[in-house]
Amino acid sequence: IPIWTSSHQTMPPVASADSFQSSFDEDARPAPKADIALLNKLVHKKLEEVGEVQIKLPNQQQDPTSPLYSVKSFEDLRLKESLVKALYKMGFQQPSKIQEAALPILLVEPPQNLIAQSQSGTGKTAAFVLTMLSRVKAEDKFAQCICLAPTYELALQIGKVVEEMSQFMPDVKLRYAIRGEMVERGQKVQEQIIIGTPGKMLDWLIKYRCIDATKIKCFVLDEADVMISQQGHQDQSVRIHNEIERANPNCQCLLFSATYDDQVVAFAETIIPNPMLITLRPEEQALNNIKQFYVLCSGRDDKYEAMLNLYGGLTIGSAIIFCYTRKSAAWLTERLQQRGHAVTLLTGELPIEERALIIQQFKDGQHKVLITTNVCARGIDVSQVSIVINYDPPITVDKQPDFETYLHRIGRTGRFGKAGIAINFCDSDFAFSIIKAIADHFGKPIEQLDTADTEQLE
Ligand code: ADP
Repeated sequence: IPIWTSSHQTMPPVASADSFQSSFDEDARPAPKADIALLNKLVHKKLEEVGEVQIKLPNQQQDPTSPLYSVKSFEDLRLKESLVKALYKMGFQQPSKIQEAALPILLVEPPQNLIAQSQSGTGKTAAFVLTMLSRVKAEDKFAQCICLAPTYELALQIGKVVEEMSQFMPDVKLRYAIRGEMVERGQKVQEQIIIGTPGKMLDWLIKYRCIDATKIKCFVLDEADVMISQQGHQDQSVRIHNEIERANPNCQCLLFSATYDDQVVAFAETIIPNPMLITLRPEEQALNNIKQFYVLCSGRDDKYEAMLNLYGGLTIGSAIIFCYTRKSAAWLTERLQQRGHAVTLLTGELPIEERALIIQQFKDGQHKVLITTNVCARGIDVSQVSIVINYDPPITVDKQPDFETYLHRIGRTGRFGKAGIAINFCDSDFAFSIIKAIADHFGKPIEQLDTADTEQLE
């Protein structure tokens, strides 16, 4: 395959790798995982379902084709009436894909341990909240379910779901074990469900003994991948789990994660050895139906001109433009706005709630063009983007080509069989070498584009 179709292999020396270094700012790094997880929670107000469910059974377990392993309706689950009522009020008509597979296992007697992995917005939280609420006895006034979340904000998000789903269960109460919350010495927690962060939960469980571990029948660890990215949280989670398991070997242990790389697998297996595993594999987002281009420019001004040309020659549907730094993103936004183009700036200095709002409005079509940075490359999950523009090439902090980020950026386009377009601006030898490395890495051609002649794109 002709990977590289350029005739000129060199570039006017304008910006060097060093100038990338000097202009480095906060936004050049991807946002912390906990921020992305929260952002996703705030943006995904509806189910986001693509992919195929796979179930892996623990060794020596029965037939996966058994009807136990899938339900098509909430009625099939024989849920408490108060729960069914809440689900309908919340507008849940049928289980999501991951719920179809997970709920029968989550709710079966005797309780089963389970690891479930699927991307954000696919219904994991709803699944384990439903499980906790199915398992609690409202008449027992002590802690029965524990849920761990990586941050204060994420714990609150889970709590909101508990509140909503238990709206017809007036005797079921929720307690947060998060910063600012206290228990009196010698007092036991009376709420049935406790949601908290690992440090506080560990205090309550082991230091203050205000939770009786022998009575915990359901232990949920949410956002496992975020948990291990945070100093100390992994160890604390393991200690909490060990304490509960020692006190009540029959406690149901559940672990949820958006990703499932080797590190998460290793961690998950310390919590649930030989697990039942349910994963929802997103469709392979290969670069196959994405046309990739590069644009050669002789420097910053030329690059800006090329951008304007592109604007002139294209009816830009919805597009995302990625810049390396907050500063350059702001600069580009301002200049395009001055020319009367409706572009919206999204950078990491905005509070997460505001970022979520902008992304939501972009999804709703209120903003057509977003100008953003790496901070958002992994947070934005918008499938209907028609063009992705890398105004600056994706590089890691040590100035290497960042293949993963490239795929994340480009993966926003060309979903569901639609053709997507990715355009990479190269304004230096350095930028050019990065794009070349990316083309080589993925083994897909990146063709040269002349922005004065955008017919190639049609
Ligand atoms: P995750 O935990 O995987 O990010 P959530 O459980 O938060 O996913 O679900 C994402 C969104 O979809 C939430 O707004 C939730 O209310 C909604 N949702 C979850 N399950 C269903 C369902 N079965 N039917 C309709 N909406 C659902």
